[in-house]
Amino acid sequence: MEDTNRDFSSSQNPFQTMPRFSGKTVIITGSSNGIGRSAALLFAQDGANVTITGRNAERLEETRKLILKSGVSESHLNSVVADVTTSGGQDLLVKSTLDKFGKIHILVNNAGAGIPDATGATGTDQSIDVYHKTLQLNLQAVIEMTKKVKPHLMETKGEIINISSVAGQPRAQPDFMYYAIAKAALDQYTRSTAIDLIQYGIRVNSVSPGLVATGFVNAMGMPDAATQKLCDFMSSHKECIPALVAGQPEDIANIILFLADRKLSSYIIGQSIIADGG
Ligand code: NDP
Repeated sequence: MEDTNRDFSSSQNPFQTMPRFSGKTVIITGSSNGIGRSAALLFAQDGANVTITGRNAERLEETRKLILKSGVSESHLNSVVADVTTSGGQDLLVKSTLDKFGKIHILVNNAGAGIPDATGATGTDQSIDVYHKTLQLNLQAVIEMTKKVKPHLMETKGEIINISSVAGQPRAQPDFMYYAIAKAALDQYTRSTAIDLIQYGIRVNSVSPGLVATGFVNAMGMPDAATQKLCDFMSSHKECIPALVAGQPEDIANIILFLADRKLSSYIIGQSIIADGG
């Protein structure tokens, strides 16, 4: 029997002239760098209105310039310096997006980090302060953004894509256990919100990357040389990465766009796609 509720007209139709996210508005947290920056560029190039954001104004400006340089008009961009762990920052993201574009169709909860302990402690010696900060960024901010954007996504029957990590898989992660705990909880939040929100036509899915060459390891306090050494080591040992290559931000951004594209992924709900080179 034909399903008349879903639109199966291909988004890769060679005769299609409209970019596939034309008229859609996307908020991408953590788009001042790495995976979020790449996703912002791809969404904008594919016709979306994009709210880009992060705390670091200089890096955010780099994202803005990169997108403008690719030929996207200023009118499709909303650039907001904000800390996504604060209520004020979250409200600013939502309000400025609605003020500029009128609606919200897609929320990408991408901002995240493995927050290092200032004393260098790892494992059970990491402080409770680090635990709180890690969960606040990688889990609580996602929950808060989801609650704040939900009414707007109900209006547009929109999509949420959370960025998790292979660290959240059920394997021990003794060194950065708080980060792993946060991402494991995020996976459960993705599954649960997906079932709660599909009644409103909102789809929720996530992506769990393995090693991706971004500012992530630097943000954990590792200097450039050590970061490069880690990437080189992992991508030359097939027991670490069978594909023998570190992921690039676009590898993950392309999956984000796939999950945001209802014509391609409408029947995927509450899933996490692992992208880790094996
Ligand atoms: P980057 O460090 O390159 O980017 C992280 C982004 O998050 C930056 O734009 C940063 O912006 C933003 N961010 C961090 N804290 C805050 C905050 N408090 N408020 C607002 N923005 C914040 O790392 P990735 O691109 O790699 O990380 C993206 C996601 O991918 C994260 O959720 C991460 O956990 C996940 N991931 C990454 C992996 C990797 O190997 N790279 C592996 C598995 C998962 P700013 O500093 O300007 O605030």
